[in-house]
Order: sequence, then C-alpha cells, then structure tokens
Amino acid sequence: MLGVYIHVPFCRTRCPYCDFVSEAVAGNPPDAYVDALVREIGALETDLEAGSVFFGGGTPSLLSERQLARIFRALHDRFRLDADAEITLEANPDDLRPELPGQWRALGVNRISLGVQSLDNRVLRYLGRRHDADTALRAVAMVGEAFDNWNMDLIFGAAPVDAWETTLTRTVALRPPHVAAYGLTHEPDTPFGARADEAIEEDAALALYRAAETTLADWDHYEISNFALPGRQCRHNLVYWHNEEYAGFGTGAYSFLNGVRARNGVSTAAYMDNPCRKEESLQLNDTEIRLETVIQHLRLKTGLDRDYYMRRFGQALDGNFGPALARLARRGLIEDDGQTVRPTAQGFYLNNEIGLELVG
Ligand code: SF4
Repeated sequence: MLGVYIHVPFCRTRCPYCDFVSEAVAGNPPDAYVDALVREIGALETDLEAGSVFFGGGTPSLLSERQLARIFRALHDRFRLDADAEITLEANPDDLRPELPGQWRALGVNRISLGVQSLDNRVLRYLGRRHDADTALRAVAMVGEAFDNWNMDLIFGAAPVDAWETTLTRTVALRPPHVAAYGLTHEPDTPFGARADEAIEEDAALALYRAAETTLADWDHYEISNFALPGRQCRHNLVYWHNEEYAGFGTGAYSFLNGVRARNGVSTAAYMDNPCRKEESLQLNDTEIRLETVIQHLRLKTGLDRDYYMRRFGQALDGNFGPALARLARRGLIEDDGQTVRPTAQGFYLNNEIGLELVG
C-alpha cells in the first residue's frame, strides 16, 4: 500500500529558520490551489490502495473545511483508502479553534501533527513563531481530547539552549503518542542563514539530542528524530523509511511510483497553472533502488533484515553491500548480528556517514 502526500504551501507568516516550500497568505489558501490539487490527483492514472495520507506544509490547518472536503473527495475518487489508513494533518497551535478537531475527524483525519517546537516563550520568540507556550498547551489539550493519535514537533538548539530541558520535561507530562525532535539548522536561503554564527557547536547539539533520548525514555526512539509510544509510529513516514511507493501532490511534492522518482516544481504560481507538470522525473535502476532501501532502513532502530532483503530483491544483502557494511561495523556505526544490521547510537546521530559509506 502506498503513502499519499498532499503539500499545502501556505503559512500565516514565514518563520525565519524555515526552508520548506511555502509562502505567506492572509486567510485560507486560495481556492485556485485546491483546484490544482484536485486536478493533479484526478490525473493520476491508477487505482491504488493507500495506507496513509499526510497533509504537510506549510500549514494544512489553514485549509477551510470546504477545501479539505474537496481534497478528500478527490482522494476517494482516485485511491482506495484502506479502512484503517493513517490520515495525518499538520496543524499550527495558533490555528486551533475548539470546533476544528471535530471537523477534521468528521472528514476522516485520524492523526494530528502539531508544530509546537518549544514550550518556552523565549525560544518561541527566537524562532519567530506566532504562538506562545500557553497557546501550544491549549492546542495540545484540544488535539489530545479529540485524537488518540497525535504528534508534537520539537526543535532543539535554539536560544536559550538550556530551555530544551524544560520543554522535554513538560512534553513528558503531556504524554504525546509521538514526538519528533529536530536540531535547528541555519539554511542558507533563510533569514537564519545570515545568522549561522549563532549555531551551537556539534558537541552541544549532540548533548541536546542525547537529553531527548534520556528524557523520552518511555518512548521508543525508533528513527533518528522520532519517538513513539507503543503502536504509535508514524506509518506514513515508515513508507519513506522502508523505501516504498508514495504519491505526492502539490507544490514541490515528490512521488516514487513504479521506480520513478518525480518532483513537482517549487513555484506555487506555476503549479496552479499546470499542476500535472513534473519538474524532474527519474527512472531509478535496480541498483539505485537497493541502495536507497538500505540507506533508508538504517535510519530505523529496527535496521534491515537479511531475509527481508532477499525476499524483496532476490539477492543477498552481503553480495550487494557486504564490504561497506563491514566497514560501517568496524567504525561502530552499525551493529550486525548476522541476521539484521542496525544503526548503533552513534550511527543514529551520524546517519549521513552511513549513507556516504554505502554510496562508496
Ligand atoms: S516552520 Fe512551519 S509554520 Fe513556519 S514557515 Fe515553515 S512551514 Fe510555515
């Protein structure tokens, strides 16, 4: 079953650290964008079964009930949605109004990902977020009451850095089923790019990462940046990490179908003019797909099982990657019990090194 991703490239205001494809909009996203999404979804010439849908952004919680309903209709026309498909909507805490969770649930949403980022007002101001900690807590209460499956996004490494501990402690008390914790980056094409001197040292970032692991001890640290209570792993993201197929719609969205990786252009104006035009489309060969499958699985604590690899590709993992895996084990980045290769704690943090070694 494939995953379906819908990109909503609009936010109330732009956060200065963010390099996601989005632009500021005063009210709801333009109907012309929803028209374009409906056209792009309708043009997909398949009738596939989907196990997950993820509305990401940008800020999908800006969509009106009517706009979301139109997108859902288009999805149901094109996809067979599995009866227990995971359907996630990303929401900003400042958008939450009491009536919204019920509307979202009625449309079929069953998981909310809340962009909390921090529960410290100084950090939220530093990040240029529009909400404060009290607003985030109110949003958490509304979401937690309506949904038993939800995520809190958090950012570490923003000033004051030591506020991370408070955010983690308060997060534990809120007991979100899922937490995603990312280090702050200073991307070149963002206002924060010009403030790269404020970035914390690598050692300090590692200490904050380890603090998350320690404090969120009740949560399974199942992926580099993701923590889940039992049964609450994000099924949609597992599609990416298992290198399975997905269909992406909207500005800048990626798809991976029948071995073809395709990407829509990043201009929303151009997308609205011609939503079915792919900016990039690349047929991956078997070697590339095998390589990506190994790299992606090694983002997960469960790693990669040799029998699974044989079933999926009809080839032995060691025949394809034996020397690189041996080098990774010698470097202490993976552990290998002969059946399964898994990232070590160090390999989790230095995951890009694993990718580089496998690419060779
Ligand atoms: S961080 Fe989220 S809310 Fe802020 S600009 Fe980026 S996508 Fe929009």
